[in-house]
Amino acid sequence: MSIKPLIEKVAIIGAGPGGLAVAIALRKLGYDVQVYEKAKDFRPVGGGLGLLPNGLNFLAAIEPGIVETIKNAGCEVSASVVKNTQGETIRTNPVNRYQDQYNQPLITIWWWNLQQILASKLPSDSIHLNHRCIGFTQDDDLVTIDFEGGKKVSTDLLIGADGINSAIRKTLIRDGEPRYLGSMSWRTVIKYHQELLNASELAFVKGNQDFMFLLNLGNDYIYWGYRQSSSDYLPSQDAAAVKLRILEQVANWGESLQALVEATPAERIFESPICDRLPLKFWSQGRVTLLGDAAHPMSPSVGQGANSTFEDAYELALCCSQASNIQEALSDYEQRRIPRTKIMQERSALGERRYFTSAHEADAQNMEEHLQMSREQFQDWVFNYKP
Ligand SMILES: Cc1cc2nc3c(=O)[nH]c(=O)nc-3n(C[C@H](O)[C@H](O)[C@H](O)COP(=O)(O)OP(=O)(O)OC[C@H]3O[C@@H](n4cnc5c(N)ncnc54)[C@H](O)[C@@H]3O)c2cc1C
Repeated sequence: MSIKPLIEKVAIIGAGPGGLAVAIALRKLGYDVQVYEKAKDFRPVGGGLGLLPNGLNFLAAIEPGIVETIKNAGCEVSASVVKNTQGETIRTNPVNRYQDQYNQPLITIWWWNLQQILASKLPSDSIHLNHRCIGFTQDDDLVTIDFEGGKKVSTDLLIGADGINSAIRKTLIRDGEPRYLGSMSWRTVIKYHQELLNASELAFVKGNQDFMFLLNLGNDYIYWGYRQSSSDYLPSQDAAAVKLRILEQVANWGESLQALVEATPAERIFESPICDRLPLKFWSQGRVTLLGDAAHPMSPSVGQGANSTFEDAYELALCCSQASNIQEALSDYEQRRIPRTKIMQERSALGERRYFTSAHEADAQNMEEHLQMSREQFQDWVFNYKP
């Protein structure tokens, strides 16, 4: 008689950085892994990401050699520059110390390029595009996933890596809509030859109740992300209105910054509210669990969204390979991940508020210890975490 192994088949919803990374990690351990993605094809979408030492260390543990590939496709950052709205440099902070201090650099890369690199490490017939998951049901033996159009797929373990508006989380937790954090975001990636920053720099342009991030993504691609404090989320009517709105908001900024917005095709600017969700006490039920933004969405202020997702991916695969049953695997995974990501979520929400309020106002609240850590202490805690 053959005894069925603990987990044979794994289905992952979402081919973002988290879903693809956990797929690679689980395949290496011998699982039959299938990834289901709602997009009809892989298109050049998404913003610019900063990959930091902790995220890169976990990616390297999942796929040795991948950091070199990412470096070649993106930009290894040597300095972070603070500018005023006229585009003049106020301060330069070296970040090449990351390599000495934490054993990895800071790399900026386009979300789409990262997705392509990760997808290239999987057999193409294990990624199923045009599969929008709408829910699931489960019993003691199996999970059955429902897709738009009526298709159903059965599996031993289901991982929801389908982002902040996760359909898996909706079925599993039912905790409603994401929480709006009081700022709006407009972002894009364009090919643009500019003289605002050197090839290995990233910049933070400090406005009054607004700011802009500029990231070099390699090959003359640049990411700009503009954020503004807004007590309500007020969406624009259409793409043309989005661009006009930003141009009005930066009308007093320097010419080079205005020219960057001007040169961007209106339909390429993505407008969204900055949101998170409150930390959860559990992420799993039966044979189903969550990962990445589906489990712990956070504001981008500490740059840990994608980086923490790679920690999840490595640790979930490890827990699956070490446990004697699914419940044990998912419970170990939660114990390893929930306390750490809770701190990141809370610190990120505070960071978002601090962009627009004085430190004094933000600090006046009764804060837990991890929220009082200095920036350096927090960085040490985040970046020194290793596989
Ligand atoms: C302005 C901004 C800047 C950021 N900057 C950084 C940064 O510098 N560093 C950093 O680490 N993070 C950053 N982040 C966060 C980062 O983008 C996310 O944390 C990261 O992409 C999460 O990866 P994920 O795979 O969990 O989810 P996602 O990247 O959201 O991927 C989810 C995938 O699931 C698919 N999907 C969704 N629903 C379904 C469904 N129902 N069925 C099938 N497929 C589905 C989506 O199409 C997508 O491909 C930033 C975020 C924002 C908003």
